[in-house]
Amino acid sequence: MTIFNLGSINADYFYDVPHLPKPGETLAATGFRKGLGGKGANQSVAAVRAGSAVVHIGSVGKDGRWAVERIKEFGVDVANIAIVEVPTGHAIINIDKHAENAIVIFQGANAEQDKGRILQALNGAKHGDILLLQNETSLQCFTAAKAAELGMRVFYSAAPFSVEKTREILPFLSVLALNEIEAEQLCAELETNLEDFPVSNVLVTKGGEGSEWRTHATGGIVKTRAFDVSAVDTTGAGDTFAGYLAAGLDQEMEIREALKLASAAAAIKVTRHGTADAIPRRGDVEKFLA
Ligand code: ADP
Repeated sequence: MTIFNLGSINADYFYDVPHLPKPGETLAATGFRKGLGGKGANQSVAAVRAGSAVVHIGSVGKDGRWAVERIKEFGVDVANIAIVEVPTGHAIINIDKHAENAIVIFQGANAEQDKGRILQALNGAKHGDILLLQNETSLQCFTAAKAAELGMRVFYSAAPFSVEKTREILPFLSVLALNEIEAEQLCAELETNLEDFPVSNVLVTKGGEGSEWRTHATGGIVKTRAFDVSAVDTTGAGDTFAGYLAAGLDQEMEIREALKLASAAAAIKVTRHGTADAIPRRGDVEKFLA
């Protein structure tokens, strides 16, 4: 099977700063790193590292060719990533001495998705393939509707959270993935409980507390604990979890096993600094679990 991912691609710029800048303050950074990021790219990297075939659908500016090369080096199919006339999406990530961060994101080329290109990419999809979506691009709902029509399983991470977008896309989903804060916001906005969500499966990740997978039809809940590790950087933990879980579903693993694999992959990620580059390979996750 194949995982298709309509996903954001960002350049992540990390600046080490003595403290987070105050209004009007100019601050000298003591360190700088640049890396591949964006929730979409992270999830593609996680799914391919978990051993699935992944087709990424997205767009970058002319300044983003390096990011496409990086995604390709991980083994992801990049034939449906367009180069557009808008700067590549990026994130300015200030990190202070206590690992506290403040992030500014510019959506850039991620907002320039194209219906024709999406339909062309989905031409290669089969019944039962998975579509991954997050909330950092345009055209998620359009793509979800088309994928559902094709009999694909649609897996949507509702982050960054938007109640309007989530409400609109709900009818097309097989899996809705939320972190604890997003789950609270959505329940409050929709005035409902997680049990009553009109979605086949709802995943709620709870950081170091683990995760819960709810299946609407049966009311069943699978709880998965987080592994006890020393976290140094939790950026991308949710994306690592989502990408690995999608790969587990794609590879027809038992849900319990897929959740455990995802939890282990995310645990390894939080012991490493960085985003896409810090996502572990399947072999490392299996060693960790052995
Ligand atoms: P997000 O990054 O989307 O906010 P979470 O913080 O809920 O998502 O983390 C996703 C998953 O990553 C958790 O369910 C857990 O399995 C793993 N994880 C996150 N933080 C830790 C941690 N401190 N220790 C071990 N695992 C963690």
